[in-house]
Amino acid sequence: MNKILVANRGEIALRVMKSAREMGIQTVAVYSEADRNSPHVKYADEAVLLGPPPSNQSYLLGDTIIEVCKKLKVDAIHPGYGFLSENADFADKVEKAGITFIGPSSQSMRIMGDKLSAKEAAKKFDIPLVPGTEGAITDVEEARSISKEIGFPVLIKASAGGGGKGMRIVRNEEEVEEQMKLAVSEAKSAFGDGSVFIEKYVSSPRHIEIQVLCDKFNNQVHLFERECSIQRRHQKVVEEAPSSVLTPELREKMGQTALDVARSCEYIGAGTVEFILDENRNYYFLEMNPRLQVEHPVTEMITNVDLVKEQIKVARNEKLSFKQEDLSIIGHAIEVRVYAENPMENFLPDIGNLKAYQRPHGTGVRVDDGFEEGMDIPIYYDPMISKLVTYGKDREEARKRMIRACEDYVISGVQTTLSFGKYVMEHPRFIEGDFDTHFVDKHFDPKRLTEKSGAEEEVAAAVVAYLLENRKAQVAVKGGATTSKSSWKRNRTS
Ligand code: ADP
Repeated sequence: MNKILVANRGEIALRVMKSAREMGIQTVAVYSEADRNSPHVKYADEAVLLGPPPSNQSYLLGDTIIEVCKKLKVDAIHPGYGFLSENADFADKVEKAGITFIGPSSQSMRIMGDKLSAKEAAKKFDIPLVPGTEGAITDVEEARSISKEIGFPVLIKASAGGGGKGMRIVRNEEEVEEQMKLAVSEAKSAFGDGSVFIEKYVSSPRHIEIQVLCDKFNNQVHLFERECSIQRRHQKVVEEAPSSVLTPELREKMGQTALDVARSCEYIGAGTVEFILDENRNYYFLEMNPRLQVEHPVTEMITNVDLVKEQIKVARNEKLSFKQEDLSIIGHAIEVRVYAENPMENFLPDIGNLKAYQRPHGTGVRVDDGFEEGMDIPIYYDPMISKLVTYGKDREEARKRMIRACEDYVISGVQTTLSFGKYVMEHPRFIEGDFDTHFVDKHFDPKRLTEKSGAEEEVAAAVVAYLLENRKAQVAVKGGATTSKSSWKRNRTS
């Protein structure tokens, strides 16, 4: 494999190219008119303009991309995430054109691309599923009686769903009809497929996913879990590895179940098996993502495995060079997705020009991004600016490092989720590891972004108490003053 085309843009295109370059593989970028000056275009050995900014006239033009590959004698395509990465027809066409698709077979993608067929495949391996309907549902009366049977609240989900779209919570019988109609029309417009199904709504869930890696010689390993429960609009925004609630036994059990899910669709390459964990630590299979995930860096940090290199090696027909027993968790990693969104306005996209843009540096800080100072964030694509990842010998070190990195990161011209990331890091619930997917609804008060954060207030209160106590005892208060100084210093960016 001498040359790889990355059929994607921004941070993930760059991230893939960096691993390819380390392996001595040439890279080809594709880009739209909106991304002419993007770092991924400059970084690649060759770059080809696909067309105007809208993705259906550029990054989704599978046939054009295949033609580019033929012309430039490209050996393999890496699809990144989003765009064509889960398009089984595209994967088929790539392989038919004699080019390697760096990902699973189109057959595995077809099974896992649809939540209902994924559940069907998983059932054969006795994998725990959230109670719900086995097939698609169209009739409101049927939906009503099934929901009653399962017990409210229930969730209506789009079978072809992704990115948290096409999902409606139904709290009682009266809501079934309206929510069903909304879910079907959302599913039709977002995915061109109106099939929906019903699932029990797990009331206090955590989203835990397992990274798997499988070669073509029947070797499969899991690379432990990622905790992705901090979400807005059912979409992840803060992730970490490992999760603070998994015991070694549960981790091993979920890891083995994830490998069964992978086996159920004869999976090849890197993939992610997503689970929901309830209050009693029961887990249920949600879906499998047949591609690299946005949050893959936290796994790379704690396992020291470069997942993109492994994807490429598997695609080159190499055997996995390690076994399950060779893998272990070392340290802790946290990722904050830095979106051009306004956390004060319900995370509404806030695109514009990056007037100032300076990355944080230092020990244990990784920034995966695809922007430079002065660039515009295009309205046509996902508004993620970067992924800020910190690593520490333990969770506390990674967490404190993330607070420091959020403060050091300078972005102006657009609102970002950095302040939200810092808020999460300083929130007592996050510090204790005691949270679920409702963290934002339950614990996020946007007004507090402009005030002192909760943790700082607690430090301040503790300092005041300390001072009073010591004054009573007629003791000098120098030590307390030092503590308070550092907490006031942090205030400057809050
Ligand atoms: P998508 O493919 O759109 O991302 P998922 O099935 O992966 O959809 O679910 C996304 C998120 O929605 C989960 O991380 C979780 O927060 C929530 N969710 C999904 N299914 C359930 C459920 N049965 N009960 C409660 N929350 C759920």
